[in-house]
Amino acid sequence: MNKLITAIKVRNLNFYYGKTKILAEISMDIYQNQITAIMGPSGCGKSTFIKALNRMNELEGEIKVEGRVEFFTQNIYSRRVNLNRLRRQIGMVLPKPNLFPVNIYDNVAYGVKIAGWHPKQELDKIVESAIKAATLWDEVKDKLHKSALGLSSGQQQRLCIARALAVKPKVLLMDEPTSGLDPTATIKIEELIHSLRSELTIVMVTRNTQQAARISDFTAFFGTDNNRVGRLIEFGATAQIFNHAVDERTRDYISGHLN
Ligand code: ADP
Repeated sequence: MNKLITAIKVRNLNFYYGKTKILAEISMDIYQNQITAIMGPSGCGKSTFIKALNRMNELEGEIKVEGRVEFFTQNIYSRRVNLNRLRRQIGMVLPKPNLFPVNIYDNVAYGVKIAGWHPKQELDKIVESAIKAATLWDEVKDKLHKSALGLSSGQQQRLCIARALAVKPKVLLMDEPTSGLDPTATIKIEELIHSLRSELTIVMVTRNTQQAARISDFTAFFGTDNNRVGRLIEFGATAQIFNHAVDERTRDYISGHLN
């Protein structure tokens, strides 16, 4: 394996929604050009954790953060951080496609237009290459000006990925990106995620352990403590976690899900 470069460094992260502590003492590295899977039982804070990596949780209410989250040495919770820029660099794909009720082209161009003006020809190229990178081009190239909501849910999710890619993020956070999809659409998205790995760093929440085993390089297993606060139980190379997990809770979770 080539030398690993840390893209996001999380140290002693405590996270609160209001006064409720949701995550405690999370420390882990997200490595560049690797796929990191976050798995664990429902309610253990997986989603909260990935949203803490680009400060998306702030859109949901009062939060408090202790500890550090560094994106290539920059403390993302510093007051000087430009949130729009941060969220362009660290993009996010949600569990269900959340397209705008406009055409396919405008969905993908949306974030690019907000980030700055581009001549039409250049914008066309950006949109085309993002849709191609999301392996959707052949399916939509003849209907770019038709409503995005007419696409199948698998296609809509790949269009959401295209929209996220169009602003050229360095990291893509994916929260259960295949949760609402049938097996065929799921495999397409998994292949797509794998193909993006050479360009991007990916962090993916999944409840599907087999999916984590299939496509991730690193796996973080989260659980809750006696106070129902989310904790990182174990982190390591995916093969290590699946074949030689150190913690019994990880082994139980994996074996329960593989049977
Ligand atoms: P998971 O993704 O592992 O299912 P979540 O991160 O969604 O877990 O939730 C962890 C805990 O945080 C849950 O107890 C949930 O109720 C709580 N929580 C999630 N989002 C919010 C929010 N916006 N405000 C308050 N509590 C929340």
